[in-house]
Amino acid sequence: MTMTVYRRTRPAKRKQRAGAGRLIVLFWIIAATLPAHPPLCAAETLSGTMRAANGYSWPYGFEIESQEDRIVARVAVNLIPAGGVTRPEIDRVKERWEEGAEGYWSGKFAIVDQQGRRWPIIVDVVFTGRRAHHDIIVRPGGGRSDSLNWNIMDSTTTVAHEIGHLLGAYDEYAGGAVDPESGTVDAGSIMAGTPAGDKTHARHYRRLRAWFMGRTGIEAAELVPLPAPEKDMGPGKY
Ligand SMILES: [Zn+2]
Repeated sequence: MTMTVYRRTRPAKRKQRAGAGRLIVLFWIIAATLPAHPPLCAAETLSGTMRAANGYSWPYGFEIESQEDRIVARVAVNLIPAGGVTRPEIDRVKERWEEGAEGYWSGKFAIVDQQGRRWPIIVDVVFTGRRAHHDIIVRPGGGRSDSLNWNIMDSTTTVAHEIGHLLGAYDEYAGGAVDPESGTVDAGSIMAGTPAGDKTHARHYRRLRAWFMGRTGIEAAELVPLPAPEKDMGPGKY
């Protein structure tokens, strides 16, 4: 309304400049009405093929969305029992695997922009969905696992390592499927596959960060570690 009045009161010879002024006012109105947070990004599936320095390749894939105060990445896995593994055995381990893998990956890092706005990354591992991103064969015993072939005796650390691959992380041990560009090897990393390897690092979430930056248009978004939540040290909770 005000813009119409503004135009009418301008002398004809200044019409062109007034047109530019209207554009500026319009831009200002749009900018002022934008929410403080960037637009929410609806859930979408990211998937592709990882190729390591040693020639190994495997599919990564997960669903991701940004909510007002968090980023949620959901890895849906269909566990297929190989011969010698029963459904009840799968049912018995999957709850422990889910909780264990989420314990390593979820709530550990946040994306932070230049204004200090923070989006913690929640990783949701799902073994019971209708639409899975990955079909994983679960073999009997406790042999060597890879991203698509697990073993019923796998520890939660091993499962967390394989979930890392499905999120787009490379191995970080010599001779493994390491990053062809950085060649990172780190014995303390969850991607090292050593008994001591249990740490997640910002580099493991780089596909999530790249997606966030691309979708929101926020540049210079960084991954920062989140403080560990306080442990419940009550009886029987060690
Ligand atoms: Zn691996």
